[in-house]
Amino acid sequence: MNNSVIITNAVMSTPLGRSARKGADMASLHTVEKAAIVVTDGVIDYAGPQSDMPAVTDESRYSHIDAGGCAVLPGFVDSHTHLIFGGYRPDEFEWRLKGDSYMSIMERGGGIQSTVNATRTESAEALARKAQWFIDRMAAMGVTTVEAKSGYGLDTATELKMLDAIDRLASDPNQKLRIVATFLGAHAVPKEYKGRTAEYVDLMISEMLPAVKGKARFCDIFTEKNVFEIEDSRRFLKAAREAGFKLKLHADEIVTLGGAELAAELGAVSADHLLHVSDQGVEDMAAAGVVATLLPLTAFTLKEPYAPARKFIDSGAAVALATDLNPGSCFSGSIPLTIALACIYMNMTIEETITALTINGAAAVDLAERTGSLEQGKDADIIILNTDNYRMLPYYVGMNCVRTVISRGRVVAKND
Ligand SMILES: [Zn+2]
Repeated sequence: MNNSVIITNAVMSTPLGRSARKGADMASLHTVEKAAIVVTDGVIDYAGPQSDMPAVTDESRYSHIDAGGCAVLPGFVDSHTHLIFGGYRPDEFEWRLKGDSYMSIMERGGGIQSTVNATRTESAEALARKAQWFIDRMAAMGVTTVEAKSGYGLDTATELKMLDAIDRLASDPNQKLRIVATFLGAHAVPKEYKGRTAEYVDLMISEMLPAVKGKARFCDIFTEKNVFEIEDSRRFLKAAREAGFKLKLHADEIVTLGGAELAAELGAVSADHLLHVSDQGVEDMAAAGVVATLLPLTAFTLKEPYAPARKFIDSGAAVALATDLNPGSCFSGSIPLTIALACIYMNMTIEETITALTINGAAAVDLAERTGSLEQGKDADIIILNTDNYRMLPYYVGMNCVRTVISRGRVVAKND
């Protein structure tokens, strides 16, 4: 398939760099009004003024896209999803509408455990097929990299099956997106270990970590009151780090517990959710360079207060935005709605929002060297909007204004 392409007549805007943009830097996008991008074999050779575009040898191997004066941005990175799961939980959604809380449903055996029961009965092939439906829709919204977590197995065999499903998707030569795997065996304490959290942590350390080694780039944990509290989280994450995994945490989502501080202490790549982060946690994460991955669709769905994006940015931290697509607390992978909520309710500027969904999302999955900006040497993950002005993105509340999506040099979605 052709992955060499020349894009002309673009209004190109992109963050710059090969690491997360922090604090005030998040607002700065590099814009070229009449730009061209040359992509050879899936990699950007040139991104800059069309007037300075170098001549290519063997022009016949390049396809040509005239952007028609429309805005061109880096592809989006959705750096926090639970893409692989069995079953659905519409009944719980209705219970919550009637006043049940997410944690009370979880405590009586619903919630994550309900998806675990369904996931244990599905084949890897069926799980992957189901996830592809979401991937196709994500691609159409401009996502070119997605992180996918295990964590609905909570036993070694099913966690491996979920990672197998992710690998089937990631290694499919026709796959539209780049997929990054995260091991989340510490998503909940399974019913078999109810009241014996420390023993489940022992099992993860002694059996699961060696089994999933090489199949996941990250190790993640749901650090929460009455789930994995700080001491269990620290013990597990230290073992994961020693085993060679990079770290992520679901931190301070439901109550203020100190997950953000722990993420900073352990040098995690990201801490995610952070609705109830303490001021100390914000400061510690900023100082340690831990990416704050904020998930406004989850706050919206659970009717919870939004995470303090401004506090993070104004403290000099790097903020990423992601969807948290999952069958329970947030059954949405909507990038357009994420953008709108970030701007309307989290008081992020559109420039900060774009940075959060591109280079900072890439940093949150440790891929800022490869993607997240339009620069020479990076993979050609590029989106073309249907408008000349990226400031239209949040104005289209919940509607998709991405026209063309290019992933590693291949056109993977066309919306016109
Ligand atoms: Zn999550």
